[in-house]
Amino acid sequence: MPEAGPATADGKIRCDACPVMCYIAEGRAGACDRYANVGGDLTRVDPLVILEEAGEDRAVVPFLASDAEWDGDMLNTAERFVTAVGAGTTYPDYKPAPFIVASEVDGVDMVTVVTEGIFSYCGAKVKIDTDRHLGPERALVRRDGEPVGHVTTGEYGSQMLSIGGVNHLTGGGKREGRVTCDAIMDLCNREAVDLTIDGGASVTVQAGQAPVVDGERENRMRVGCGSATIGMFARQWRDHVDEVVVVDDHITGVLSEHQAGKVLDVPPTGIKIKGRRSTPGRYFQVAEPGTGWGGTNITDPLTILGDFNPKQAWPGLTMLMVSTTGDHSAYYVLDDDLKPRRRDLPDAMRFSVERIQENCEPALCSVMFIGGAGGSLRAGVTENPVKLTRSVKDTLTYVSSGGAPVFVWPGGGITFMVDVTRMPERSFGYVPTPAIVAPIEFTMRLADYQALGGHMKAVVRLEKVRDVARKRNLAASTDNPWPMDRLNFRWRG
Ligand code: SF4
Repeated sequence: MPEAGPATADGKIRCDACPVMCYIAEGRAGACDRYANVGGDLTRVDPLVILEEAGEDRAVVPFLASDAEWDGDMLNTAERFVTAVGAGTTYPDYKPAPFIVASEVDGVDMVTVVTEGIFSYCGAKVKIDTDRHLGPERALVRRDGEPVGHVTTGEYGSQMLSIGGVNHLTGGGKREGRVTCDAIMDLCNREAVDLTIDGGASVTVQAGQAPVVDGERENRMRVGCGSATIGMFARQWRDHVDEVVVVDDHITGVLSEHQAGKVLDVPPTGIKIKGRRSTPGRYFQVAEPGTGWGGTNITDPLTILGDFNPKQAWPGLTMLMVSTTGDHSAYYVLDDDLKPRRRDLPDAMRFSVERIQENCEPALCSVMFIGGAGGSLRAGVTENPVKLTRSVKDTLTYVSSGGAPVFVWPGGGITFMVDVTRMPERSFGYVPTPAIVAPIEFTMRLADYQALGGHMKAVVRLEKVRDVARKRNLAASTDNPWPMDRLNFRWRG
């Protein structure tokens, strides 16, 4: 645990939990609001979160509204897991982590090393389920005018942002670092964050909630690209309409030319699409990206069509144009001059559009925190930090963040990602260096901990955690694997 330095003449104490080394007056908190001077004692303000293993019939409950009294039941230690949320930080690096907790699980002596890591190398990867064009790849993403990230490679049905990272935290101006730090923390604490993209849209992002693009709430994630949509619904269209165009910024699909239409003997219609033909019935670049139909900039779908070929088209030919979410749709009939005339959607087409909408999943924002457990954090676990890395790679050590499972990247170091919605609320903090404070726990057999050069003298039994002044019990999410589960380890046998 951090230590308070000797009180100054005016009663201030010094916090040594991070390089800022605040002097904190009686009754006041330090610069990060995480530590306070309570009667001359340096006190971690937020309670230590302890998870209780949720049985199958136990409902997941949120944080208790106020600090819970410890119920004194520490006998069945296998059912409790000390997270790093509220655990505190140690600084400088060689000090043992704030809690190194031993317990027995199914006859195996286990240990969990618990710390709130200070991450200078970290950020948030944000997935926004929308077809709408948010901005060109590599465009800067700003909060309050400061660059805090960029648009990165889009994924299927989603736009992706990369927020934070060491270059924005430390490589720009002071305000850029501070705003970036706040943006990462707020996103990871599941707050709504307003962002603007250079040359693109404004977007409100909140983990687990629908994105709001240019003030419009996104409802649906597209059913697929235009080509996939043709493939999925071709049979349903075959007997009700002569032509279908699924408008999509990436791959616009055309029923009569698409392989699905060919297989179903849909006759040619003489349609002409103004785009770059990829393969039959699949067109790229039918328009510019935007927030209109299918992630294009168009509001009138007919603008992507050329004249119908009179050798193949016929008066009375019917055509449905629809976006990949079904949010936009229009029905046309060719007149005697082979010009499309808009008509009301027939019932069969309305049903078909509703079926597309029905197959769309709700549009959400997903936020993954990504951080690198550097040499300093690992030194709080073992005197020989590289051994911890090897132990993680060898699945002798299980890494969790606030009790939630993480994905550890292959290759060097311990670079992990975690879905912030699987963590306890408000798991993240900051220090003004600036850097993000995030929980991380390393769980392993006690014997393995000893073998990797762990701080054995700092190990305490789980029962001792009852001495911590502020604690909060939380039922573990049944969606998360229990961190102590032997299935998490190579030795599970
Ligand atoms: S910023 Fe927070 S952790 Fe760092 S010294 Fe000040 S009170 Fe302690």
